[in-house]
Amino acid sequence: MSEANYYRASANPHPAYPALSGARTADVCIVGAGFTGLSAALDLAQAGYLVIVLEAERVGYGASGRNGGQICTGFTNSMARLEKRLGAENAKRAWEIAKDAVDLIGRRVADHTIDCGLTWGYLHVADKPRQMAELAHNRDEAARYGYDGLQLLDKEALRDRLDAPGYHGGLWEPRAGHFHPLNYCLGLADAAVAAGVEIFEQSRVLSVDTGAEPSAKTASGQVRAQHMILAGNAYLQDTVPQLYRRLMPVGSYILATEPLGENRAQGLIRENDAVCDVNFIVNYFRRSEDDRLLFGGRATYSGRDPQDLFGFMRPRMLAVFPQLEDVALEYCWGGYIGITVDRMPDIGRLGPSTLYAQGFSGQGVALSGMCGRLLAEAVRGQAERFDVLSNLDHPPFPGGPLRTPALVLAMLYYRLRDAL
Ligand SMILES: Cc1cc2nc3c(=O)[nH]c(=O)nc-3n(C[C@H](O)[C@H](O)[C@H](O)COP(=O)(O)OP(=O)(O)OC[C@H]3O[C@@H](n4cnc5c(N)ncnc54)[C@H](O)[C@@H]3O)c2cc1C
Repeated sequence: MSEANYYRASANPHPAYPALSGARTADVCIVGAGFTGLSAALDLAQAGYLVIVLEAERVGYGASGRNGGQICTGFTNSMARLEKRLGAENAKRAWEIAKDAVDLIGRRVADHTIDCGLTWGYLHVADKPRQMAELAHNRDEAARYGYDGLQLLDKEALRDRLDAPGYHGGLWEPRAGHFHPLNYCLGLADAAVAAGVEIFEQSRVLSVDTGAEPSAKTASGQVRAQHMILAGNAYLQDTVPQLYRRLMPVGSYILATEPLGENRAQGLIRENDAVCDVNFIVNYFRRSEDDRLLFGGRATYSGRDPQDLFGFMRPRMLAVFPQLEDVALEYCWGGYIGITVDRMPDIGRLGPSTLYAQGFSGQGVALSGMCGRLLAEAVRGQAERFDVLSNLDHPPFPGGPLRTPALVLAMLYYRLRDAL
């Protein structure tokens, strides 16, 4: 995946952690230093557990240090569908978990003074007239769960907040927002280390034993623990085949313009909201703290970046903001989103003492940290909230080794549907 990542270039100063060397023991061994793994690590260390985190590359190397920074409420799935699968009571619990996920970010930023430009305000936008009904439905569905304050904006009202002429209206949500995801992730790592967690970087786990006494092996060491948490998500690839079968890594890409200056950036997104459309393959964008436009979207399924990333992304941005024709583009990078068949997070147990969470399906900025917390609760023997989500059945992707062509066909269908 491309490394011309604006977040790395604007990361807060942070330490490098050593690689694992030799045999170690811990209460909990966590594989992966993204939002999921670090969130679980922080909670467990605060509860008195001895925690070791093994990271193949660097803290925030995966999706957590590459994403759109859009902090969304809820799931990629509709609550109506979830009610059918879980029943009304558990669907309500699932909704509360998703709502708390957003609040958790706000609390952690405050508690650990994480400098990550956290900003509240979110615009869901319709690029087809028929999508206004979908937005009204989403507002009503949220209100049924006691989540109100969402405002439906017609085309004119939307233009007061967003200078993107193609949209037909929007839904403004005050309690969702955006931040610099890598700086948040690095802040979580600092908080975890301050609470006693040991992080090892450049320590790729090559194999795991998920038996009664779990362990993880790297090229130069091994950790034995009472509990293991697998938080490698789409970057874990086929290290744990049982998990990989239920996950499809999908490439998503983001570009960053040159700094536009405060006036021009404010002219685009007046109240500094995060913005996302409601298509299946979404466009998402926002302003950065230094007044760039960060614009994300598109998708690839081959595991390879397009050769000319800027050329791949620029037309998509200009279709939304034609007035940026003269603007230079400075960064463009990609990352893997872990998608499940039903687009609900896949959390559960793999063996008696091994837990995992993956597959937030494009909406994991808030949910991953919350699922990390649920994994920590389950390790501590309090699995009520964990079980609300772990009770969801996650089928493997159809097609076995040939699943990529099957997914490409499915995505082609959705892309056509978006275009209609
Ligand atoms: C381009 C992009 C844009 C996105 N935009 C948004 C958005 O705007 N809003 C939103 O809600 N969600 C978004 N997402 C999704 C969101 O970023 C993820 O759901 C979330 O960050 C997942 O966190 P995680 O900790 O589970 O996984 P990751 O952040 O991917 O962390 C996994 C870590 O595990 C490590 N690892 C993997 N295998 C091993 C191994 N064998 N040994 C040791 N370490 C290993 C990896 O190196 C990585 O650091 C986006 C994702 C991408 C890629």
